[in-house]
Amino acid sequence: MTVQKSYVDVKEYITRISKKNGWKLNTDQESLNDLIQGLQDNFNRLGYYNCPCRDSQEDPQLDRDIICPCRYAEPDIKEYGYCYCTLYSRIDYDQNQSMRMIPERRPPIA
Ligand code: SF4
Repeated sequence: MTVQKSYVDVKEYITRISKKNGWKLNTDQESLNDLIQGLQDNFNRLGYYNCPCRDSQEDPQLDRDIICPCRYAEPDIKEYGYCYCTLYSRIDYDQNQSMRMIPERRPPIA
């Protein structure tokens, strides 16, 4: 059985990832809480951090490109300032600007 992750575990994990990559976390507490909750639910259901705003195929091999931080986070943050879910953003990104939905970079699933 997979070890269950707490809210605090997930927060520590994403904080570590954001520091390592020179990003920052969403500064809106409500959005951040929802994203953490989504990651926590996914981990405790699937055993890995499936992206909280994309559907899982419930197979770590098929989902490997969308395990957080996903394969698309870096190019999205470079191009738009933040990732698809708005969890991570560029360190200098001013969140007072609107965080509009960005195009999905993941190719459609066949
Ligand atoms: S879009 Fe953001 S939250 Fe979703 S997996 Fe990628 S980095 Fe994580």
